[in-house]
Amino acid sequence: MKMDQQAVSAAELDEFRATLRKFVTDAFAAKAAHWDEKEEFPQENRALLARLGYLGLVIPEQYGGSGLSILHATVFLEEVARVCFNTALICQLAVNGPSRAIEILGSEEQKQRFLPKCASGEYMFGIGISEPGAGSAVTDLVTSAVPDGDHFVLNGQKVFCTGGHWATHVLVFARFGKTSGANGIGALLVEKGTPGFEVSKPDRKMGGRGVAEVELFFDNCRVPKEDLLVVGDEKSTKSFRLLMNSFGPERVGNAAMCLGVAQAALEQAVSYTQQRPQFGRPICEFQGIQWKIADMSTQIHAARLMIHHAATHLENGFPNPLAAAHAKLYANEMVQRVTNEALQVHGHYGYTRDFPLERMVRDSRGFALGGGTVEILRNTIASLVYGRSFNQRRG
Ligand SMILES: Cc1cc2nc3c(=O)[nH]c(=O)nc-3n(C[C@H](O)[C@H](O)[C@H](O)COP(=O)(O)OP(=O)(O)OC[C@H]3O[C@@H](n4cnc5c(N)ncnc54)[C@H](O)[C@@H]3O)c2cc1C
Repeated sequence: MKMDQQAVSAAELDEFRATLRKFVTDAFAAKAAHWDEKEEFPQENRALLARLGYLGLVIPEQYGGSGLSILHATVFLEEVARVCFNTALICQLAVNGPSRAIEILGSEEQKQRFLPKCASGEYMFGIGISEPGAGSAVTDLVTSAVPDGDHFVLNGQKVFCTGGHWATHVLVFARFGKTSGANGIGALLVEKGTPGFEVSKPDRKMGGRGVAEVELFFDNCRVPKEDLLVVGDEKSTKSFRLLMNSFGPERVGNAAMCLGVAQAALEQAVSYTQQRPQFGRPICEFQGIQWKIADMSTQIHAARLMIHHAATHLENGFPNPLAAAHAKLYANEMVQRVTNEALQVHGHYGYTRDFPLERMVRDSRGFALGGGTVEILRNTIASLVYGRSFNQRRG
């Protein structure tokens, strides 16, 4: 594994974090509960982030972004998630979503056409991978792309597309040719409003309620050939592997958001336990409470080290797959334990909607599902440890 080419000094990163922390606290803290309560997309926050250039944080400078590193992106996501989880979801889509796939896999013409508008916020991309019959088993997807003159004709259904209601475009994984499994899977960039492309009402969910998922329907939807990102390689799994690799930074970003939510929960717990008196003294003076805080702090620190390791030890520009899987798995489970314990030390107050703990518990839950479940991450880690992949199918 090599260190990130754009090695960042600790002092530089601290300064970046301090500036961000002040900005996101001033800008986003006051309405963090509002987006959840009203199930409303934080469009004004997205507009502000776009105006200040944060949505183009990692897009190369020649395409209108700031060209910062994956490590900067993790600190950015941690700090935004510490204050407003729903806004962090928008940031994750912008910095680690389809724009990265376009940067890595797109033609020069596509980079010039799409990336500056992603950086400026004019374009927002959703991700269309999951299908009703293809969740963890992505290679079971059946949405088809058939060439027809200077177009591809897209047919199929996608589910769980985060922010798809607000997206201007979606990166759609599809099957090319009469293939099965990983062979023949490629991807297209599909613009909202293209005839034959419909979007469902937003799903109602447990956490991250400001940025809902939607279903996407493609019925003889004609996509111009210039919007083909990667043609499905019918004879090998190469195109599928390239696409999945381009989502490596997303795993690390997902873990970084866990870190932000957990850090916020710990800070709430430290503050509350110093103020809440029981048995004639603040509850922080009981060793049983202190040990909970110590365990929370230790787990957060471990996650931060794993995330920074994954963000700086890159292979061909991508986070090392084992390091990224370790970081996401650990952070996904850590944030559930930490937010739950932080709620516990608040007693009944933590269970009310007057405190942010119940929201943090709900927001945390989806991490272990989206972007690869913790079970699939364990499969990935085991394959990498054994140096071979196991056939998970029956028969
Ligand atoms: C908040 C959120 C946002 C999302 N956003 C998007 C998005 O923007 N775009 C998109 O395309 N998708 C998105 N997803 C979908 C996500 O990628 C899928 O939920 C995930 O891949 C799991 O698929 P599934 O929900 O169909 O569960 P299933 O695959 O049906 O799995 C059900 C259970 O079985 C387990 N399981 C399955 N196979 C195995 C196995 N081989 N070994 C052990 N256990 C197994 C799973 O881990 C899970 O616990 C999102 C999901 C969430 C929760």
